[in-house]
Amino acid sequence: MSETDEEALLLPVDFLIVGAGPVGLVTAILLGRKGWRVTVLEKWPARYPMPRACTIDHEALRILQGIGVMRKHADLFEPSRGERGGYQIRNGDGVLLRAINWNRPAESGWANTNGFYQPDLEAELESMALELPTVELRRGCSAVAIEQDESSVTLTVEAGDEGRESLRGRWLIGADGANSIVRELAGIDTVDTGFEADWLVVDYKPLDNRPWDAFVTQYCDPDQPATAVNSGPGRRRFEFMRRADVTVAELSRPESAWKLMEPWGVTPDTARLERHAVYTFRGRWAQEWRRGRIFLAGDAAHLMPPFLGQGLCSGLRDASSLAWRFSLVEGGRASQSILDSYGTERGAHVREIIEGAVAIGQVVCELDPEKAADRDARMLAELHDSSAVTVEPPHPGLGQPSITDATDANAGRLSVQARVEFDGSIGLFDDVVGGDWQLISLEEVVVAPDLLAWFDDIGGTITTVADFRDLDGEYGAWFRAHNCSMVVSRPDFYIYATGAVGDAPRILEGLRGELTHSNELIEESALT
Ligand SMILES: Cc1cc2nc3c(=O)[nH]c(=O)nc-3n(C[C@H](O)[C@H](O)[C@H](O)COP(=O)(O)OP(=O)(O)OC[C@H]3O[C@@H](n4cnc5c(N)ncnc54)[C@H](O)[C@@H]3O)c2cc1C
Repeated sequence: MSETDEEALLLPVDFLIVGAGPVGLVTAILLGRKGWRVTVLEKWPARYPMPRACTIDHEALRILQGIGVMRKHADLFEPSRGERGGYQIRNGDGVLLRAINWNRPAESGWANTNGFYQPDLEAELESMALELPTVELRRGCSAVAIEQDESSVTLTVEAGDEGRESLRGRWLIGADGANSIVRELAGIDTVDTGFEADWLVVDYKPLDNRPWDAFVTQYCDPDQPATAVNSGPGRRRFEFMRRADVTVAELSRPESAWKLMEPWGVTPDTARLERHAVYTFRGRWAQEWRRGRIFLAGDAAHLMPPFLGQGLCSGLRDASSLAWRFSLVEGGRASQSILDSYGTERGAHVREIIEGAVAIGQVVCELDPEKAADRDARMLAELHDSSAVTVEPPHPGLGQPSITDATDANAGRLSVQARVEFDGSIGLFDDVVGGDWQLISLEEVVVAPDLLAWFDDIGGTITTVADFRDLDGEYGAWFRAHNCSMVVSRPDFYIYATGAVGDAPRILEGLRGELTHSNELIEESALT
């Protein structure tokens, strides 16, 4: 071990995280639960009290389940189900142009889409982070400078009256939002889609119990594009695009919010206004996700207009993707080279979602009446094609290179979680069986003891479907649909590989090779 590596082991923290938004906090919790020492630096002295995100998908809920949020607080989320669920795109006359199947059964064990109130979730995340003995949150500290060498990062923060202070860690994660200073200081450029539109966001509590058409409705009225959305139990949101003849200042007034909501019968008699603010919706992504020991996550790495409700969901995927890699690398169980695929996997995945969100934005934000009429005619013509009426939400796979079996078409897609009965307990698989890495097969797999021991050491579990009761028949159906009898999934729930039961030794060997192909590096980075 070199002198600098020895010195790095003595550093006060393993991870510095800039930004205590939802992505920074979930990253801190995932790392802190594995015992890594994490310091989160947040520029604001108090939590931001207003929501931005208001819907969250099944995959993000599985990530939150993994850190214990769902066990205690599943009631924070209202699923899109039944007649009041779904996602609709309507024209200015209210005619249905297209629907997205928001009510589809989702593979992660949770409803495809759920409404929620972001400040409640952030409060819970903050208290969960603070309960972890190795996680520290320092508010009122603004990141202003970063330096790095081969084995550490030095972050300078400005802490009000206390002045400047330098902190050292082995790695730094910039989860500092859309205007990321970490991204800027690391010299990472962004690619912009050119999409830009100002929208007024109005959150309110209905005082009556009127039914709504759908969970999310996009009203593509060229006179006034608008979105109505279920934003969690007892709450709703409207969003209104700013027209060229209205200034941001005018649109920001509460009177504007009431006037725009009036056609829907939302008035001071029927609703209580919680907040209103104008946001600029954009679509862009970072060209690189890593510079040496500095990584980007969340809005710092990608920004999208919220038409698909995927910004936060994508940030939570980043957190999950980073945390398992770092835990293996820092634990001496994998080569540092696995950190390189973080950006390639996440970059292509989120780019597909950004492009989808921008495409819907271009449909919704059309202000030219003639072009809007053409759009309506085209989309109405497509209504004759039943497959075009209701489309699936995007399900991108991981970009390449990735830590997956490149020969398997199922690899890099989301794996499955469903309700099971196991060992006397009933619940979702992750809660009652668990496993960072999960090998699930239709029949018993035979694997050499050393490979088994290695899989166990990285937090793997091996389960056959006969070991548990598949309460809703989901596992049987999933294996049939994916034409396989065994799956190995990663800690972020993406499929590493599928195959026949007899393929298990080959697949686990392949995984071990991919994670550990540079043994010198493993020894060098080992902390324990
Ligand atoms: C109107 C609107 C609707 C949305 N709807 C949805 C939706 O329905 N579903 C969805 O998934 N997403 C949605 N999003 C996106 C979602 O809100 C964001 O993707 C998510 O909040 C980003 O989380 P984050 O932790 O990456 O960043 P942030 O929440 O921005 O947190 C970054 C943190 O870093 C801190 N920080 C910044 N600079 C520094 C510094 N120099 N030093 C220290 N700290 C710093 C900030 O104070 C902040 O607390 C929506 C966004 C908007 C605006």
